[in-house]
Amino acid sequence: MSNNIYDCLIIGGGAAGLYCAARLARAAFAGKKVLILEGGSRVGKKLALTGSGRCNLSNSAIEISKYNTDDAFKLEKCLNRYGYLETADFYENVLGVVLEQKGTLIYPSTLKSSTVVDALRFYLADFHIETVFKEHVTSIVKNKFFEVTTDSDETYLAKNVVIATGGITYHSTGSNGDVVNILQGMTDESFFVPFRPALTSLTSDTPGIKALAGIRCRGDVKVLNSKGIIKAQSEGEILFTKEGGISGICVMDVSDNVVQLIDEGETDIKAILNLTGKSAGEIFQMIYIRRQMYAHRNCADALSGMLLRNITDFVMKSMDLKCDKMTLRELDDKKIAKLSNLLCAFPVSVTGYGDADKAQVSSGGFKLSKLDENMQVKNCPGLYIIGEAVNVNGICGGYNLQWAWTSAALAAEGISQNV
Ligand SMILES: Cc1cc2nc3c(=O)[nH]c(=O)nc-3n(C[C@H](O)[C@H](O)[C@H](O)COP(=O)(O)OP(=O)(O)OC[C@H]3O[C@@H](n4cnc5c(N)ncnc54)[C@H](O)[C@@H]3O)c2cc1C
Repeated sequence: MSNNIYDCLIIGGGAAGLYCAARLARAAFAGKKVLILEGGSRVGKKLALTGSGRCNLSNSAIEISKYNTDDAFKLEKCLNRYGYLETADFYENVLGVVLEQKGTLIYPSTLKSSTVVDALRFYLADFHIETVFKEHVTSIVKNKFFEVTTDSDETYLAKNVVIATGGITYHSTGSNGDVVNILQGMTDESFFVPFRPALTSLTSDTPGIKALAGIRCRGDVKVLNSKGIIKAQSEGEILFTKEGGISGICVMDVSDNVVQLIDEGETDIKAILNLTGKSAGEIFQMIYIRRQMYAHRNCADALSGMLLRNITDFVMKSMDLKCDKMTLRELDDKKIAKLSNLLCAFPVSVTGYGDADKAQVSSGGFKLSKLDENMQVKNCPGLYIIGEAVNVNGICGGYNLQWAWTSAALAAEGISQNV
């Protein structure tokens, strides 16, 4: 056991852990001992992957309705206290990262996630806040101080502990849902919502869908339960996966609801896809006009200026028509109407969801309702939980990293008042 007694030990050097340490820099400067214990061999591994390597670190239009949690009221208060503006101010004026806005999405102007990881690393180095690597924490016990034990049999003593171990996705980045194991001796299952993959792909056994592997289109998706009730909807890019399923931003945004429906035992879930980004009426008009212009061409060629050939083929096959064998002249008004309707509302069966390891975030984790407004575990002074380890997850668009920054900043504020 080390003789050092740390003022604050942060478990996990991901987005939330690093930001929390950065927000504690002033306390460190005043002589307080702050240390990060990181299970892996480098910090910010998942952060480096974000936004396809560009790091969509926040959103200027953060809305509570874009999140899923057990305590929406508290989440709103947290985001109001420390939201996009406070985060942007810290990044630009303290960490020195120039930000760029694309629509409402916020990125570093370099469009490189390594800029964000480096800014945090360099700032921590300036304040001599160190990280011990390959220290995988296995348990915490509270006696006079917190006793934090690692799998190398080291025990660290601390007055405050922040758990920032992330969720269950992308195991290669170090996150395995460890918050549950670490707190085993101090909590029971009532403290947690089980971790599940969110922002993930959906699998389907719809005939012919595998032929669309790799195809992307702009459109929208609606998720229907067995009673035909719309349970979720979103618009944006749809990507067909090589496993024979659907992904892309708008599919990921509704995936959380699908995971929930499957867990509730729903077996007849449908995703209704608009594969055109337009209305069926508009598509009817476009095909109708093309029939006058290119009546002699086969349907695939005649529609190639407005539809990807694979999509025309897939949808016409579902009508028992062969797009390369039939001329547009042969497509009568009734068939054009049916094709237009299917292109704008194609029903795809949903059989499951992608592997947790490939999901962008997890839902579930330590209940927000069991934390106070500074992310401190109620009735356990000095123990804080932040980031994806907490039961808060958002849709794509910078919402999840914003939660990492918000929860980290609030925990740091609480700790600064105590040390
Ligand atoms: C491919 C991808 C792209 C994404 N893009 C975006 C995006 O553009 N915008 C956005 O808002 N969100 C994005 N996200 C989500 C975002 O990355 C996460 O929400 C965020 O990283 C969560 O931060 P965290 O610090 O809570 O957890 P993590 O970043 O997962 O960090 C947890 C850290 O804790 C360490 N750790 C775990 N267990 C232990 C232990 N027992 N002992 C010691 N250390 C431990 C891990 O090694 C890791 O370093 C993306 C996610 C993925 C996978």
